[in-house]
Amino acid sequence: MRREWSILWSSLLFAVAAFSQATQQAVLPPDLKWNGKSQELMAPKNDPWITPAEQSDFTRTPRYDETVQWLRKLVAAAPELKMISLGKSPEGRDIWMVIASKERAFTPAALRATGKPIFLAQAGIHSGEIDGKDAGMMLLRDMTVRHKKRDLLDGANLLFIPIFSVDAHERFSAVGRINQRGPAETGWRTTASNLNLNRDYAKLDAPEMRALIRALNEWNPDLYFDIHVTDGADYQYDITFGHTGRHGYSPTIAAWLDEVLRPNLERDLKVMGHIPGPLVFPVNGRDFQSGIIDFTAGPRFSNTYGDVRHLPTVLVENHSLKPYKQRVLGTYALLESVMRLLVKETRKLREAVVADRNRRPQNIPLSWQVPKSPPAMIDLLAVESKIVPSKITGSDFVQWTGKPVTIKVPYLRMNEPALTARRPHSYWIPPAWSEVIERLALHGIQMETLTAPREVEVEMYRMTETKLANQPFEGHVGVTGTPVVERHKRRFPAGSVRISTDQPLGELAVLLLEPNSADSFYQWGFFLEIMTPTEYVEEYVMQPMAERMLAEDAKLKAEFEQKLKSDSTLAKNPQEKLQWLYRRTPFFDGEWNLYPVARELKP
Ligand SMILES: [Zn+2]
Repeated sequence: MRREWSILWSSLLFAVAAFSQATQQAVLPPDLKWNGKSQELMAPKNDPWITPAEQSDFTRTPRYDETVQWLRKLVAAAPELKMISLGKSPEGRDIWMVIASKERAFTPAALRATGKPIFLAQAGIHSGEIDGKDAGMMLLRDMTVRHKKRDLLDGANLLFIPIFSVDAHERFSAVGRINQRGPAETGWRTTASNLNLNRDYAKLDAPEMRALIRALNEWNPDLYFDIHVTDGADYQYDITFGHTGRHGYSPTIAAWLDEVLRPNLERDLKVMGHIPGPLVFPVNGRDFQSGIIDFTAGPRFSNTYGDVRHLPTVLVENHSLKPYKQRVLGTYALLESVMRLLVKETRKLREAVVADRNRRPQNIPLSWQVPKSPPAMIDLLAVESKIVPSKITGSDFVQWTGKPVTIKVPYLRMNEPALTARRPHSYWIPPAWSEVIERLALHGIQMETLTAPREVEVEMYRMTETKLANQPFEGHVGVTGTPVVERHKRRFPAGSVRISTDQPLGELAVLLLEPNSADSFYQWGFFLEIMTPTEYVEEYVMQPMAERMLAEDAKLKAEFEQKLKSDSTLAKNPQEKLQWLYRRTPFFDGEWNLYPVARELKP
């Protein structure tokens, strides 16, 4: 009774309590004063093509409908522009992409035939981090109807996705981004089904992500930018960006991004009054005492996904504590700089892509670690911080004082392979795992489908020490295990697919199919079915068989007795003792925990 009462009481409290005054406004660290040259990019207030964000002096960002209306009007007035829908969200919104082409080449083939570089800029994968949308709207306008930057389209094509996570964008409120300095109201991080699209590049659950991957395959851009806003530490940089380094899956592309793209973009941003920098993730998660870390994560993230599929991909993280105006104008300067650079660099960038697409490394890293050797020290344009005691937690917290300081910090790079897999000649997948096959095909991975059954000598993994995650994550219950190699002669039925790794997306296939890879379909839980043994034995059948087994096989008997001595749980459980012996009969389910994706080493 008491418990019911307290539940009722707390729900009543929740229903009637208004949030206190203190919760109405986030208390952010001091603003660093900024007065950059990029303010010249803003259209004057009386310009008929002023964007909604400019109109508000960057206090607000337009809603989905207002954005689409404004873009439709622009596209109607600018023959160089066309809007296409990449697909619909679960709530029925179109995911729009604007194609900007001087030649009006509005199909993938026609755009490629222009010979000009194709730059894809994507905003709003996390819809509260929407700087790219308002920057892109200004740039599209200036390249067309406002006649300020028409020359940009002489040299390059732009594909612009103003809002990727469209439903999330319309979960619009003043409380979507507690650590961010504007705009006044924003969208939300996750989709209508609470999926984080920047965890979905590998597994492809969300319709939005499926639409994007189709577009990447169709339009085949030369360079892809995924534009975010950070959370986390305070520092001086306003526009930070990064990519997977040369240790990764596309070393030639990474070298180009490091040696050509970065210095050019940084120079142009500085000219416009911005403070570009590398991605800044504090090692300890809060300040710079332990330095910053350069992550190499799995292909669930855009930047690793791009690297694995040899698509030059840059993750942009504008700094959340900088005012919205500064962030949007910095993004504009960044996009313009990319367009100008690509004109000069098309050939070299495309050569780098071809080189990486033709690589066939035999050992493929599945995960990464920071080497033991002492890290390099770098100069960081930081903001002074101090550790102060907390009255609330009894511990301490980091306070940012707003004073710019340059400090030397360790730069830890996660650039050493931790686990690797040997590249097989091919993978084989039986048709029962159609959901996985369908997703591999959606990535653009080439495969051959059997029209008649075939027997193949393969290597397979028996998954041992399997462990389910305690919590679901992104709609999946994850699983890990230790793969133990077995040799099998396996008959694959018609409808099975064979995936040769001798293709540009071969490494992607490895990362999606090797169960030691954190972004494999196995670890995401697409093969949970194999964890249940099926078919059962009755005690009265197993008892006499067990007696005969132990009598016949002295080695087995010794093993059994040893096991009983070392495993007290087993020793106390009569049923488990019989099961232990049952597992050593051919009647036991041989498919139990046998990962059904097979590796063919030699054809
Ligand atoms: Zn983000």
